[in-house]
Parts: sequence; C-alpha cells; structure tokens
Amino acid sequence: MNENPPPHGEHIQELKGLEKKEAERSGYVYLHPYPWTDPNLLQRDTTLISSLRRRFHDESNGKCTVGPSKIRERLDMHDAENNPLPVTELGVFAARRIEPNEPILLDWTPAGALDDAEGRCDACFSVLEDVDRVAVEGNTDSDGPVALHCGCEVRFCCFDCAQVSAKLYHKSVCGCDLTIFQNASKLDLAAPKTAARTLLWLRVLAEIIQSEVTEPLKHPRIAQLMPAYGDFYDFEYHFHIVRPIQILQSLGIDVFRDLEFDTWVMHTLIARLHNNAITYSIEERISPSRTLINSKLEVQHVNQLYSLFNHSCEPNARTTVNGRQCSTTTILTAMKQVEKGEELFVSYLSEEQLKEAVTDRKEMLWKWFVGECGCARCAREQADVLEEGIKA
Ligand SMILES: [Zn+2]
Ligand SMILES: [Zn+2]
Ligand SMILES: [Zn+2]
Repeated sequence: MNENPPPHGEHIQELKGLEKKEAERSGYVYLHPYPWTDPNLLQRDTTLISSLRRRFHDESNGKCTVGPSKIRERLDMHDAENNPLPVTELGVFAARRIEPNEPILLDWTPAGALDDAEGRCDACFSVLEDVDRVAVEGNTDSDGPVALHCGCEVRFCCFDCAQVSAKLYHKSVCGCDLTIFQNASKLDLAAPKTAARTLLWLRVLAEIIQSEVTEPLKHPRIAQLMPAYGDFYDFEYHFHIVRPIQILQSLGIDVFRDLEFDTWVMHTLIARLHNNAITYSIEERISPSRTLINSKLEVQHVNQLYSLFNHSCEPNARTTVNGRQCSTTTILTAMKQVEKGEELFVSYLSEEQLKEAVTDRKEMLWKWFVGECGCARCAREQADVLEEGIKA
C-alpha cells in the first residue's frame, strides 16, 4: 500500500500551460485514495454483485446482466500509486441478442438534485401541475400534488414518489432548515453547478443516515460506485470544506464525535459521486409565478444501473434523459445489434465530442480514466498515430 501521496508537482505536469498556472495559483483538489482505507471498503462484495444482477434482470426484462469487463485489460489497469488494490472492473453484458433501437432498460433514481427545484416533485423532479390541490400521502382518492403527513412543505407528483421519499430519505431531513443549500444559487452563495452538487451530497447523505447502514461507504448506493483518482479540480474553500461540514451539522451529525462521517469518508463519498453523476443543464426553470422561464437549470443524478455501463468511443448503446420533464430517469437503448454475451457500452462524451481526435478525447475523458481510454476505437487510432510518428 502506498502511504505517501505523490508530490503534486509530478502530477500537475499533466495539466497544460495556462490551465496549470491557474491551478497552481488558486489551489486545486487532487483526488487521492485515503491510504488507510479498510480494503473491504474498496471491494464490491458478492452480495452486492448478486443484488445488482437481480436488478438488471428485473429492470431490463432479462436483456442484460453484470459481470467482469475486459475493457481496461489492454492498459494494465493496476496502478499501484492511485489504486491501492486491483479492483475488478464490472461491465454490463447482453443476456440475449438485442436488436437495433430496442430499449434496454429504464433506470430511475431518487439520488438526484437540481440547483433550483421550485415547483417540482421532491423525489423525481417532474413539474407539478395544479399546485392548489394537495392530497396527503395515504389518501389515494384525490389526485394533485401529494404532501407528507409530517406537514413539511415538500410536494410530490404522485403517491409513489411520496412513499419513496418517506421510506428512503425524508426522515433525515424532516424539519431541518435546508434553505442555504436549496436556495444557494438564488442567493448567490454558489454557482448553479456547485449548488446542484451540494444538494446531491445532501440527498445521498440523508439516505445513508436514514438507512440501517452504519458505515456510509458500505451503503449499497455508494459501495457499488468507483472513484476516479488522479483527477484535479479547482479548490474552493467554501465548497470543499465548509459545505460538507454544514450539511452534516444540518442533518444532526456531530462532526467532532461521529467518526463514521470523518473527513476522509466524506471526501471518498464525494469522489465516488463526482465520478458517476450524470450532469447536464436544461433550459427551463419555474418562476415564482409558476411559469417556465428560459433560464438554465443544473441537474445531477446518480443512477445505480447506468453507473455500471462502461464507456467506449464507439458505443453500442445510447442514453437519454427526460430533459423536458426533468425526471431522474435514464433510458438506455441499443444503437446497433448486440449479440448475447457482448458488452454494452455507452459514451460518456457527447456526439460532438466523439468526433474529436484520439488525443483530444483522451483529455476530455481524463475525469474518468486518468490516462487512456481502453476502447477498441482508441486502440486503433492510437496505433495509427504511432505509425504516422514512425514514418515521419
Ligand atoms: Zn415524482
Ligand atoms: Zn417532514
Ligand atoms: Zn475510447
């Protein structure tokens, strides 16, 4: 196990010119594993893998399953410096032949956040219609937005969403004053992107606290996620230090006594969410007068099944998010015929980004791979680049 973080200078060389200067000046966060992490917290155990297999089978109607992937094999994945233990990469595989354009699965998650969720369901973020008619959870006769028995102001689009919230996370936040997080972007306390990220941490922590799991990193939503170590991002004192502590305190955690939420645990959790969250912006937010206005809304969600799909620069499956309604559902559809046993790949890059050359893609994929992409297209194009170099 490597107990000394590598000297920063060595890694900052990976950044280029101006970017490097800027990072050095303002400070940056360098994601590195906590050296004394219990190795059990880095493995996806067999119980977790079997429960994922069951979920894949049920949600995809038997179309796909999860298993060890060979995607990084070409690259000698075991990087002793950044990954203390060789971790088996998982991937999603076709369990039978899948036809072009065939829907593979719908993956819904309550682990989502919007920088401004006003006028939307608290669980799925769809736009609430007819807010003057409010039904209470359990009273299934009336429709209209649903409220909870506790009397909190949150509203839901349907009874199912209200129940998910009561069962998974609402008890942890019931009665808590979360205004500074919920209105952070409106009050100019945070940029919309950071506000959405903070709210995602809040939602996931609320779920962990409400569950019976005592070690946050063993919560199934977190245990299955892999962090991307070696990545950099700008350091913001407020966002990286103050916010995590404020969230824990708002949720009733004593940051000096409750060591299960120690700083390294929080930052491991944040690194895992950072690597796996689907982030995008949609054009419409709701004004206080309840009209949709044309102003960007930042959205982040972590979908459990989606997060197990590996990236390829020539994907055979595509993901769509329901942007107009802004639900946290990710829809996976086959782009070409996929034979039984073949791995299903999505692209973490947009269609435009996929058109770029292999070296540019490598840079854009840095956040996830810190090094090379293991896909077949990159292998081919990399070989071409080498060959041209030799000729020249
Ligand atoms: Zn809903
Ligand atoms: Zn409540
Ligand atoms: Zn690639």
